[in-house]
Amino acid sequence: MPVQIAVVGAGAFGGWTALELRRRGAQVTLIDAWGPGNARASSGGETRVIRATYGTRSIYSAMARRALERWRAYDAEFGAGLFRQTGVLWMFGSDAGFGGASADAMRALGIPLEPLTPSGASRRFPQIAFDDSIRRIFWEPDAGYLFARRACEHVVQRFVAEGGEYRQAAARAADHDAAADTLGRLRRIELEDRSTIEADAFVFACGPWLGALFPEAVGRRVAPTRQEVYYFGTPAGDTRFHDPDMPVWIECRDRVFYGIPGNANRGFKVADDTSGPPIDPTWGAREATPSGIAAAREMLARRFPALADAPLVGAEVCQYEATPDSHFIVDRHPAAANVWIAGGGSGHGFKMGPAMGELLASCVLGDGSPDPQWQLARFQVEPAGGWSEKWS
Ligand SMILES: Cc1cc2nc3c(=O)[nH]c(=O)nc-3n(C[C@H](O)[C@H](O)[C@H](O)COP(=O)(O)OP(=O)(O)OC[C@H]3O[C@@H](n4cnc5c(N)ncnc54)[C@H](O)[C@@H]3O)c2cc1C
Repeated sequence: MPVQIAVVGAGAFGGWTALELRRRGAQVTLIDAWGPGNARASSGGETRVIRATYGTRSIYSAMARRALERWRAYDAEFGAGLFRQTGVLWMFGSDAGFGGASADAMRALGIPLEPLTPSGASRRFPQIAFDDSIRRIFWEPDAGYLFARRACEHVVQRFVAEGGEYRQAAARAADHDAAADTLGRLRRIELEDRSTIEADAFVFACGPWLGALFPEAVGRRVAPTRQEVYYFGTPAGDTRFHDPDMPVWIECRDRVFYGIPGNANRGFKVADDTSGPPIDPTWGAREATPSGIAAAREMLARRFPALADAPLVGAEVCQYEATPDSHFIVDRHPAAANVWIAGGGSGHGFKMGPAMGELLASCVLGDGSPDPQWQLARFQVEPAGGWSEKWS
């Protein structure tokens, strides 16, 4: 009898995990309350950056390298067109420590990250104003962006084509913290319609909803923060701000802004990486705020002068599902050994989907274990110096 596994959540983490488990021979049921890459999910929206630049956190550089291999292989096999290799242009102000540390870590892993001079960068990208506020520039040639919502849908379609069962259904937020039997195993989950799913093992990859589903085990360690994303209209007939003439760019100064070139005719994407206010992922309002739009416009005028008066043609509100240290969570439930919890992508999880799927499938099937940095036990002791940030 193949092992029966239920995966709750069909975002970047759950979808890839379900597909990987199915490919390793498990009988898998995947459920999602609103569908893969839905507009409330952290994996929703048009695009996400894929980069291996992670400062001293080389565990993520290595994971991103593996994920990129898998995204490429997936595109080659299914012609899905989910990854676009535009390169990523990194622009730093006076503190370029993150760039320098990344270059060292990536060199050790054989991932290119090349320094550019401002004059070289200006020649290459004349549509960008490299003023005095930009002190150091790096070019990450293997990086680029992924189509987010479309990838989630594609992966679930593959999962079903390869024999998995997908259902649009919601697991009740009832009592998963306490529902394990005396042997410390969960037998079934209850759905909102009061039906149940029985399985040998369960994976909860519920993004920003993890804390509500597991108030004891996770609780406020996954904090959903409101993040706005803007799409600005480019001049008619002008391709300078579109893929392939424009790369992904990330500006790390007092704040981190980033953007993805115009693609799928949606406009030029700009976002502020600063953590926003708390948001309820189910009920939170998803209209862009005037102050957020104004901040994006100000940066646009400074860095991309030709877009200073560009009209806002669209906006999305998503949420980071942030842990205190920006590290992921991959662990067994403390009271139920056959329940795995995966999330805490903290604004950088999407790209890792295929590698996360491999890791979780190994964990669930008993031939792998998560890095201690991702285990829940780390939250019991706050590190000396406090929780560090993801751009450190
Ligand atoms: C604006 C923004 C920009 C980002 N930029 C990047 C980037 O450039 N690069 C990058 O790598 N990452 C980025 N991220 C982070 C990344 O998108 C997330 O970390 C990642 O998508 C999280 O995936 P997930 O599967 O854990 O969660 P989700 O995508 O939220 O998936 C969870 C799923 O669980 C379902 N669910 C929840 N509760 C239940 C339930 N009770 N029953 C059934 N289903 C349920 C939901 O419907 C949802 O589909 C960004 C995030 C945001 C918001």
